[in-house]
Amino acid sequence: MSFLNNVLSNVRRGCDVGGFPEEFFALISKPERIVIAKIPVRLSNGKLEVFQGYRIQHNSALGPYKGGIRFHPELTLEDDIALATLMTLKNSLAGIPYGGAKGGVGVNPKELTQKDLEALCRGYVRSLRVVLGEYLDIPAPDVGTTSQTMAWMMDEYSKIVGYNVPAVFTAKPPILHGNPVREYATGFGCAVISKEIAERVLLGGIEGKKVSIQGFGNTGQWHAYFLFKMGAKVVAISDTSGTVYDPEGLDIELAMKVKNTTGKVVNYPKGEKISDPQAALYVDADILGPDAMERQITLENVGKIRAKIVVEGANGPTTPEAELELSRRGVIVIPDFLANAGGVIMSYLEWVENLQWYIWDEDETRAKLEKIIRNNLSKTYKKFEELQSSGKAFTMRDAALVLSLQRIYEAMRARGWL
Ligand code: NAD
Repeated sequence: MSFLNNVLSNVRRGCDVGGFPEEFFALISKPERIVIAKIPVRLSNGKLEVFQGYRIQHNSALGPYKGGIRFHPELTLEDDIALATLMTLKNSLAGIPYGGAKGGVGVNPKELTQKDLEALCRGYVRSLRVVLGEYLDIPAPDVGTTSQTMAWMMDEYSKIVGYNVPAVFTAKPPILHGNPVREYATGFGCAVISKEIAERVLLGGIEGKKVSIQGFGNTGQWHAYFLFKMGAKVVAISDTSGTVYDPEGLDIELAMKVKNTTGKVVNYPKGEKISDPQAALYVDADILGPDAMERQITLENVGKIRAKIVVEGANGPTTPEAELELSRRGVIVIPDFLANAGGVIMSYLEWVENLQWYIWDEDETRAKLEKIIRNNLSKTYKKFEELQSSGKAFTMRDAALVLSLQRIYEAMRARGWL
């Protein structure tokens, strides 16, 4: 099954468990608008490259479209639709006033010079400007895009309209009305969720529990860092260079320094080095964070997973069939659109600041963010317990789907769409 089919099969399941009508599934399973744009860029080598850019506006029942922009060589339109659908679910579950969207370009940003990357970012905005806006569609970074790319995009949009519009892109650098919390918000959220769920299902909470993180990028690094600070023992981390394993626990601050200066986790000076990046999925751990990319835990390898809790930092890392198997074994999977919502919740706070030209300091912002994340987990866990009490097997994803779809359904009904 493709990534999109996995996401749609989860939406189908949510509609069935929640008892929503077929008409609702018909509306929620398709994007409202798909924009495919031609982006001509004159590269610094003199060649004219015509990139293809996407913006998928999936649903707007609860507010303006919101979701990241991905620059990745293997990005397809279909994957972008799957990611946009997940954004609709994530924003609704978090209770923030947004619909869902996603965008991207099938490009490897590492192969572009900084000048060419800037030109592509500006080109993306010029080509898609009619569907973007601070009250219409508010992008943010995703894989392959950063606060710098958001800065160029915000600047380009502002030049087009003729005045500064910081609220049209989120996760900008702090000097351009970004908030410093955004840098670590996704991983911080994953860590808060990991701690909250550990307190509910593991004896003694998070203290001393073994954690393994697959993918040591923005999400994985901060997920590991905050769990390390909370007293957990991070025993394995991985990136495309391989896995580092130490049953006694890794020094995550040192690992971040090594990764961010040398580009590879395997340059970490201690621990066992395993060439397979997937090895982090299989080590003996209480909590596993698949924080790299989609479709990592499948029917082929699910038998090797030893964790009791899986906190999906990445979008779509577990296929529905693999999740069914994990659920049969009593493993709790915290679904992506709950686990990694910290990033978009922080984006929402930044957007609120920008719309009012108001500034919250870092501590104030983090406290607001943490409150929304904890509430998100606790209401979903309550729903999970309620579903479980029927005696049938339900998952945390089922609970999150029902709550998320319920808000969208009610908004559609109130608008008269249904
Ligand atoms: P990133 O590019 O910063 O990091 C990805 C990391 O995964 C890199 O270190 C890369 O080497 C590693 N990786 C790739 N394939 C791997 C594999 N097979 N095994 C082990 N490691 C592998 O990306 P990111 O922003 O951290 O995003 C990661 C995931 O989190 C994506 O699914 C993204 O959609 C999701 N996410 C990110 C954010 C955010 O704010 N960054 C928010 C929500 C969801």
